[in-house]
Amino acid sequence: APRKLAAGNWKMNGDLASLSEIDQLCKAHPDPGCDMLICPPALLIHPMAASAQAHALTVGGQDCHAKESGAHTGDISAVQLRDAGAEYVILGHSERRADHGETNADVAAKAAAAHQAGLIAIICVGETEAQRDAGETLSVIGEQIAGSLPERSDSANTVIAYEPVWAIGTGRTPTNEQIAEVHGFIRGQLDGRTGDAVNLRLLYGGSVKPANAAEIFAIPNVDGALVGGASLKAADFGGIVAAL
Ligand code: 13P
Repeated sequence: APRKLAAGNWKMNGDLASLSEIDQLCKAHPDPGCDMLICPPALLIHPMAASAQAHALTVGGQDCHAKESGAHTGDISAVQLRDAGAEYVILGHSERRADHGETNADVAAKAAAAHQAGLIAIICVGETEAQRDAGETLSVIGEQIAGSLPERSDSANTVIAYEPVWAIGTGRTPTNEQIAEVHGFIRGQLDGRTGDAVNLRLLYGGSVKPANAAEIFAIPNVDGALVGGASLKAADFGGIVAAL
């Protein structure tokens, strides 16, 4: 089984003063039993990567443009993320799919750029509550997987995060059986697409906190978590890291 990954997504939260959380996290977990990643707002990547360098922490972005450079005001390329010290980038988060109209094809183009730049792409998939209620969960996720992964995705350059939209920031989580069903399904979908599907890390995301982390991590095919709110405080995220 692959080494597990605890990934934090700070979303549009945090400032330079929040870097003290990183110092605390690194001090409390000098030798974690899993890979540890924080994806802060782009402005904080470089200073965070500098403080993380001596520690077991990696840093990532939350989005990138599909092109390397050019006339794209306000955008940031994968090459620039890499230059700033990022090793990962989250792509196709449901908030970007909803707020910025990102399609599966957009996500695949961005992921290809991330791979080209030497970044590991964390590709997010997940159904809305209406889709789950309509029995469409697996078909939606199957389409997202088929459309959002570029050619040559493998366990070294790609991570997939299953984040049910209705579980994000709500305090609600799927049952263990529901998570197991989707993760098993994703693993099966990957089988035909990559040579090493068993090693490609599948993260669960949506209302993960220290209190439910151990139970979620025990579910088959769960190789870690993508954590929003509970990644902002060193004590909370540290509790999740400890559960891995
Ligand atoms: P919460 O952990 O705040 O529910 O957010 C999950 C998420 O969207 C991580 O990308």
